[in-house]
Amino acid sequence: MIYADNAATTRLSPAALAAMTPYLTEAYGNPSSLYTFAGEAKAALEGARGTVARCLNAKAEEIFFTSGGTESDNWALRGVAEALGKRGRHILLSAIEHHAVLHTGQWLKKQGFEVELLPVDDQGTVTPEALKKALRPDTVLVSVMLANNEIGTIQPIEELAAIAHEGGAIFHTDAVQAVGHIPVDVQALGVDLLSLSAHKFHGPRGVGALYVKKGAPLLPLIHGGGQERGRRSGTENVAGAVGMAAALQEQLETLEADMARLTALRDKLIGEVLRLPCSRLTGHPTRRLPSIASFTFEAIEGESILLQLDARGICASSGSACSSTSLEPSHVLLAIGLPHPIAHGSVRLSFGEDITEEDVDTVAKSLAEVVNDLRMMSPVWDAAAGKPIW
Ligand code: PLP
Repeated sequence: MIYADNAATTRLSPAALAAMTPYLTEAYGNPSSLYTFAGEAKAALEGARGTVARCLNAKAEEIFFTSGGTESDNWALRGVAEALGKRGRHILLSAIEHHAVLHTGQWLKKQGFEVELLPVDDQGTVTPEALKKALRPDTVLVSVMLANNEIGTIQPIEELAAIAHEGGAIFHTDAVQAVGHIPVDVQALGVDLLSLSAHKFHGPRGVGALYVKKGAPLLPLIHGGGQERGRRSGTENVAGAVGMAAALQEQLETLEADMARLTALRDKLIGEVLRLPCSRLTGHPTRRLPSIASFTFEAIEGESILLQLDARGICASSGSACSSTSLEPSHVLLAIGLPHPIAHGSVRLSFGEDITEEDVDTVAKSLAEVVNDLRMMSPVWDAAAGKPIW
């Protein structure tokens, strides 16, 4: 099997599992308890906090553990909106955010906030000009993701955060796809809030964190026993936090070399795939995640391609999201200006650090065969002309 769906989730690293195991077995104390036995769990939790903070160039007290990226995004948006709702009710989100952000935005709309989507260009970038144009005196929050999960485009966050701050707004970035894959430094980015999720970088599922810059206005989302210094209640997931810290530290040890290798393999695949007629790369050609290559193929459905790849032992994903509840193509592909018929034929390949050149060659060859086979069966493909009939 070739697993090329690391943007969906990653394999738990053996180091993360080893680091977690004691807190799932012997050292099971509740970190909030006072006796010595619980102290071990408490120390591990705080150690994990320190490690995650160091990896992001944050302070330990600025890291709050959550149940993952979705919760971190929900908390960032709702927490700021509630804290600043009296000052202003205008919120800006990029049009290509994950649904964890977009659906929270829709919920805030129902609560009386004015939520506007920032457009992106045809490579999926939010331009500084677009943000400047959309900012208003009553804008309290701007949320733009660091790297997109479907097309891999990396945003100019430093510039966007500075513009938001000049306008008096708080800046959140969903860095779920970026952390552990490209350098992420909260000071350099200048963000107030940043979401991350462990299972995207070989940590366990169901654990993440929100970086909250000291002093950033943010009310709690989850109320209860007052854990995480009263800001995120719920008995702490010690093993999860420890696993996340171990995985992140391990990723960063080889980050530069992995990025260089993955970028070369990604670009090799892109070069091979773009030789197919009526195929295109989605997202920015160079300012993109090293691990993500995403394409559209005219006249065929992304789902059909995925099923055929699956039959050949290749796990990939499609942005066209014809899920059980929707036949709409991906909002990301529509936002970069692709028409429906083209957006329906999308495929995303996201590699892990263990991918080999041979694997990439196999993926390229299989993809070419599958695309050609499906086009031969497609009622909207003119085989003689080598292009769609429309
Ligand atoms: N944000 C982005 C950009 C993502 O890709 C994902 C997961 O796919 C999430 C948020 C949600 O993270 P989690 O699965 O940890 O809830």
